[in-house]
Amino acid sequence: MGHKTLDDAAIEFKVEDYPELLYTDQGRYEAAVSGAAKQVLHEHGLTLEGILFQPHEGVAVYVGGVSFDDDLRQVGFDLRARVDSALEGCDRLVPRRGIDEQCEEWNALAREKGFHPRDLTPERVAGMLALIHSEVSEALEALREEQLDLSFEGGSKPVGLISELADVVIRCGNLAHAMKRAGLVDTTLQEAIDEKHAFNKDRPRKHGKAF
Ligand SMILES: [Mg+2]
Repeated sequence: MGHKTLDDAAIEFKVEDYPELLYTDQGRYEAAVSGAAKQVLHEHGLTLEGILFQPHEGVAVYVGGVSFDDDLRQVGFDLRARVDSALEGCDRLVPRRGIDEQCEEWNALAREKGFHPRDLTPERVAGMLALIHSEVSEALEALREEQLDLSFEGGSKPVGLISELADVVIRCGNLAHAMKRAGLVDTTLQEAIDEKHAFNKDRPRKHGKAF
């Protein structure tokens, strides 16, 4: 015999089971889980007390009307199957791509558009770094013009500070992949980010500086 608590009555879904959904179409994912939870719990004679969505953590479905004999594992299994079926055929969903895959794609497009000469010399890398600077300057200008959010110039060209930040990221990723491709470095951008983030976690407050 045990003491029933709210935690006992929670069916947990782990985010990693649906990574591509949570990162590209969370609204549809949440709607699918909510709809499936209501149906499945009703079929088992249970009530839905609430759903907690925690990005990067998981999803907890809180269930009411549970007796000690109820097999919550079976309810969880049914719920997962129903969510899978609710999400089947969602053509807006695309697998979440890692940073390195995106860098490769940006670099391939840059080459297709004729931006990269055959040899990636240090002077060429310097030029690409200067172009990253130029995007930061454009972000600053957008801030001065109070254009922070995404809008479309002439109906199609994305502009705004957030769009300039995207330019910075794309240019950095393009350069990282170009250097890896040319054999100038062995490390991918994802590997470098993982190393730096791990290092930053152990640094002191404000990294030991005044600001
Ligand atoms: Mg720009």
